[in-house]
Amino acid sequence: MAKKSFRVVVLPGDGIGPEVTSEAVRVLEVISAVSPDIEIKLESHQFGGCAIDSVGEPLPASTLKACQEADAILMGSIGGPKWGVNSKVRPEQGLLALRKALGLYANIRPANFASNSLLANSPLKPTVAEGVDIIVVRELIGGVYFGARKELGTGPDEDSAWDTMVYSIPEVQRITRVAAQIALQANPPLAIHSIDKANVLASSRLWRKVVTETLQAEYPQLALDHHLVDSASMLIVANPRKLNGVILTENLFGDILSDESSVIPGSLGLLPSASLAGAPSVADALDPGFKPTSGLYEPIHGSAPDIAGKGIANPIGTILSAAMLLRYSLGLEKYAKAIEEAVRKVLDDKVAGGHELRTADLGGSVKTREMGDKIVETLKTLL
Ligand code: ATP
Ligand code: MG
Repeated sequence: MAKKSFRVVVLPGDGIGPEVTSEAVRVLEVISAVSPDIEIKLESHQFGGCAIDSVGEPLPASTLKACQEADAILMGSIGGPKWGVNSKVRPEQGLLALRKALGLYANIRPANFASNSLLANSPLKPTVAEGVDIIVVRELIGGVYFGARKELGTGPDEDSAWDTMVYSIPEVQRITRVAAQIALQANPPLAIHSIDKANVLASSRLWRKVVTETLQAEYPQLALDHHLVDSASMLIVANPRKLNGVILTENLFGDILSDESSVIPGSLGLLPSASLAGAPSVADALDPGFKPTSGLYEPIHGSAPDIAGKGIANPIGTILSAAMLLRYSLGLEKYAKAIEEAVRKVLDDKVAGGHELRTADLGGSVKTREMGDKIVETLKTLL
């Protein structure tokens, strides 16, 4: 039987991007080589600052086309001081354009400990941090980031500036369905914690009503509660296990809460993310297994110019992003789990000398490549 073939576009980007993506690419190559029934075809394209340098724009048309045609996209990181806020063209414009072109409205960021041996790295007390397992689902292309705004010094009202937060019923419905699908992929299904500011904001009252009605009608089996954003941000540091499950929230609150929750595991270098497009239909409620029409997977960290080129960046966030890619875009849960298990084993295992393998961000001296080698080697034993 012919192997099922998937096309994955790799955007290594700038700074440590190329260093960390090459380790994740090796992981995907191993899976492709070992699997009897699938193959993953990987192709790299220019994106970000490196594309500005070579062709004058961060998102060249050929890169966009490849991304539109691919089954999924794996990205490193973009940007750096070379293309700072005063540059005419900035790498970040390319990322916004790509998100918009692909309609990536659902941003998914898990915050958990890949291994309990990392508990000591958390800024929270181990008794508070232990067992935290949160997935933030953030609406990414609506709300106050995309509403009408007025800058200071313009219009008749010269001494004021404003931004408007707008949500429509369909925008809230589709992100709610994505959160529900993600909750259903776990066994048992995860609880949903919807976060808003419904005691003040009209857009939040719409949010709360639509989330409640959508889940009651289409996913009645899922547990749902509501938190105000102020008390939720307190809970994340005071008693984060109370929010275990899926945090479902709008763009601005999600930006803040996903950064806040990502601090819990102790290093930016460990955490993956996904940005998805394509609305699950009502019928998906009966048949869980939503496949996004587009998915962009990247570590949550930036291009880390301070350590770029030194070969010391932690590749785990990017490797776990590749696991999310297999899970959500390619529907290969078995291989996603194998990668996560390999990462956990490598972090837990003691090496010669009695200590664990750690990159510099976690207080060790293991290089990017060595960490990749160890994860690839361990993964092979699990496939
Ligand atoms: P951006 O604006 O692109 O999000 P940032 O200013 O938030 O970037 P990062 O580039 O994420 O910052 O880096 C923040 C700090 O974390 C830096 O000191 C960087 O070296 C460190 N860091 C980020 N990613 C990693 C990684 N994968 N491994 C090790 N250290 C990292
Ligand atoms: Mg940042």
